[in-house]
Amino acid sequence: MKPTIALVGRPNVGKSTLFNRLTKSRDALVADLPGLTRDRHYGHGRVGGKPYLVVDTGGFEPVADDGILYEMARQTLQAIDEADAVVFIVDARIGLTPQDKLIANRLRQLDRPVRLAVNKAEGMQASIVAAEFYELGLGEPWAISASHGEGVRGLMEDILDGFTVDPEPETLDHPKIAIIGRPNVGKSTLVNAILGEERVIAFDQPGTTRDSIYIEFERNERPYTVIDTAGVRRRGKVNEAIEKFSVVKTMQAIEDANVAVLVLDASQDVAEQDAHIAGFALEAGRALVVAVNKWESLDNGQREQVKRDIARKLGFLDFARFHYISALQGRGVGDLFASIDAAYEAAMVKLPTPRLTRALQLAVEKQAPPRAGMVRPKLKYAHQGGVNPPVVVVHGTALEHIPDSYWRYLEHSFLKMFKLQGTPLKVQFKRSA
Ligand code: GDP
Ligand code: GDP
Repeated sequence: MKPTIALVGRPNVGKSTLFNRLTKSRDALVADLPGLTRDRHYGHGRVGGKPYLVVDTGGFEPVADDGILYEMARQTLQAIDEADAVVFIVDARIGLTPQDKLIANRLRQLDRPVRLAVNKAEGMQASIVAAEFYELGLGEPWAISASHGEGVRGLMEDILDGFTVDPEPETLDHPKIAIIGRPNVGKSTLVNAILGEERVIAFDQPGTTRDSIYIEFERNERPYTVIDTAGVRRRGKVNEAIEKFSVVKTMQAIEDANVAVLVLDASQDVAEQDAHIAGFALEAGRALVVAVNKWESLDNGQREQVKRDIARKLGFLDFARFHYISALQGRGVGDLFASIDAAYEAAMVKLPTPRLTRALQLAVEKQAPPRAGMVRPKLKYAHQGGVNPPVVVVHGTALEHIPDSYWRYLEHSFLKMFKLQGTPLKVQFKRSA
């Protein structure tokens, strides 16, 4: 698992500037798609080969209550709770403030690593910048400049040093399915419906609240692992405490899966949170199947309306198959698995170089890349660079002139020509000599 780093601090110290710097290095798996909304508070990044997840806790401000009691905003507390390490950001230009001291008091009680980053320190002498912040009792202050990128790498290397990150996640030879979605859409009901009929082989109890449950089972003599982000509620028990929704948990599950099943609630409008979760799956490049749940509770008119709402708001998921199910009645679950199997096969597909190159030539014959001034990009040959998602590396010249629209055209063409259903596909360009 990637370590999760939370960025904490008063407003205006530079949290979002640092967040942007920490997340933009990762080459986007998908081009910006119309309708794709990203959650700007959660992102992936990588420093020195080590990946991490970073959370910007946003507009946190300690709230004064009777001048004595202070509380961190709920969202910030949850983010800190889920984080493996915290970067506490203060402002070198403003200096130490009473609010900084209050935040530091809370952070000192944590049982996880905290780094103190003194931001906006460009053009200042590090030792002088740091001096007044020692009294926060959070160790050596790191003088950084988020906007100029100074000191950021060293800080991140220092944090990540404390974590061992698996170089390559093991690739399983069977589908590993993450059941994702916002609270109350029916994730646990679906997991129960799936497992109700099947032979459960192993069951992992979660270690912490932020962990998902991993369940291995067999269906039609095929092994599967389901990653349950909701936590199976024991059948029959109605009033079990509803777990807090955790974005970090959802993102970790997506990363660790090879197929994601996004559950939507047909009895409610598609919400911003649905689109964010879909965006996480897409950015991770995961194969995806969408389960529109509670379908039995709608009449025909409502069903048409739901389909239109989905098409409008989640149009960027056009590569995925949609299923209209009732987890409660166990309806549609079998068909869902047909799509899960297909999506898994597509995500893991091996495409030989000659066939890929032929497919590239066909796509170019049908539609050549547009001329940019005097130059026209030339696409020569292609080979596969990875699976889950399939990556196609296209070699050629003047590739920097290829517009995003043509990029998407190529990705669509490969998906279509190889009949890959349920997975995104990524095209990378590589200049040939
Ligand atoms: P947040 O409220 O903590 O997320 O802070 P922002 O990232 O929005 O930054 C607040 C302001 O500080 C913006 O005007 C930024 O441009 C500025 N800022 C952020 N980082 C730096 C820095 O390293 N140096 C300077 N001089 N300004 C910065
Ligand atoms: P989770 O928070 O996503 O795990 O959602 P739950 O599985 O706990 O379900 C939330 C609520 O939706 C519960 O009251 C379920 O009984 C109900 N529910 C789940 N699936 C269906 C369904 O297919 N149809 C209907 N009508 N209700 C459902």
